Amino acid sequence: MRKRLTLDPVPLDQPVGEGALHGRLAGLIGAQGHDPAEVLRIYDEHLSRAVISCDSPRYLSLMPAAPTKAAVMFDMVVSSASVQGASWLEASGAVAAENQVLALLARLAGLPREAGGCFVSGGTAANLSALAVARETAREKRDRPTTGAPMRVAVGHQAHSSIMSALRLLDLDPLLVTEDNHRLTGPALRAALDAAERDTGPVIAVVASAGTTNAGIVDDLTGVGRIAQEHGMWFHVDGAYGAAALLAPSVRRRLAGIERADSLVVDPHKWLMAPYDCAALLYRSPELARAVHAQDAEYLDIFHAHDTVRWNPSDYAHHLSRRARGLPLWFSLAVHGTDAYARAVEAGIWLARHTADLIHQHPRLELLREPELSVVLFRRRGWSADDYRKWCADLLARQIAFVCPTRWEGQAAARLVFLHPDTTTGIVKEVLDTLE
Ligand SMILES: *Cc1c(COP(=O)(O)O)cnc(C)c1O
Repeated sequence: MRKRLTLDPVPLDQPVGEGALHGRLAGLIGAQGHDPAEVLRIYDEHLSRAVISCDSPRYLSLMPAAPTKAAVMFDMVVSSASVQGASWLEASGAVAAENQVLALLARLAGLPREAGGCFVSGGTAANLSALAVARETAREKRDRPTTGAPMRVAVGHQAHSSIMSALRLLDLDPLLVTEDNHRLTGPALRAALDAAERDTGPVIAVVASAGTTNAGIVDDLTGVGRIAQEHGMWFHVDGAYGAAALLAPSVRRRLAGIERADSLVVDPHKWLMAPYDCAALLYRSPELARAVHAQDAEYLDIFHAHDTVRWNPSDYAHHLSRRARGLPLWFSLAVHGTDAYARAVEAGIWLARHTADLIHQHPRLELLREPELSVVLFRRRGWSADDYRKWCADLLARQIAFVCPTRWEGQAAARLVFLHPDTTTGIVKEVLDTLE
């Protein structure tokens, strides 16, 4: 553990063929055990090196990670302590600390004091749990029979894939909103609602992104939130990636309107420097979530048996047993202070802008959009999808960087994401220099 924590730089590493890994693992699990030192050696020398290090400053694709050492070390403390984070009864100390972090996030977002929720494994789980509450709350309100046309949820095309997956699981239909230059706005939502056929299911909620994953676009949260309120629709804000920018003064105003959210998701394992797996889920009115998610069983009556209000994280999402996965972030925030987090988030925003400038100056590159947060989309003139794939594979093989292609307006493009504060302009130049 000490060795991994002090690697500087963390090697990027890359995937290894299945055959080679199976060979290493063959016979390791059998009726008789092995020397732990030998098993650890196999992990260290073979398995761990076949894992791309998300916390490498050269990891610039999908979604990088940059957990603080304090958070990672405290994660080990939490593991060692076997904390069952389901209920106040079992883990009051841990839950109180997690709630301190949730209260900070709620305050940064401008949610009311009563706001609260819990930490879950990721944005996907958080989106599902929140939209389940949106659906059940609408059912209650409408006193609607469970048959008939499915209820609908307004979403933009740029919404994260986990939103569509949640809608499918919840038997909700999407009302696809045509965005205004890829941004979900109040007028775009109003136009979609006006055009929606009256005889199909009611539109009970809208999902806006506080930072789309593919391009880092922040939707018009004020406009969308206002219309949601007018129509009595649930307003869900997916800030899994971008809501960390609540801490960044240079872009905070872009998130205006986030305070209107009925539910809000922020993934600390992305841009709040926490280890996997950690997503914060907040509700404006937590009692609505409790009515949906609190589990009811004879042996669990004790969770809810107290006369004073106790906070059970298991009441606020689709889970019961859980790691106290908010604690590593709590420890790190207490150790470093929020100013250090603000600087770390600003570093990614600055590097994205700087990279956009380099791309503007580059004769063969075309910037596809000015970055709003820390994602940069661009094209190499004349390249096909295959060229991007080859370029990315070569960057990884040479351990220069982990970059993946994406698509923008249907065409292949390159995408860089900056959220590791140790990613340097030098690394960016190394990457761009391969495009001469
Ligand atoms: C990453 C992301 C998700 C999914 O989060 P996981 O933690 O990977 O489950 C959802 N929404 C947005 C906007 C994201 O960026």
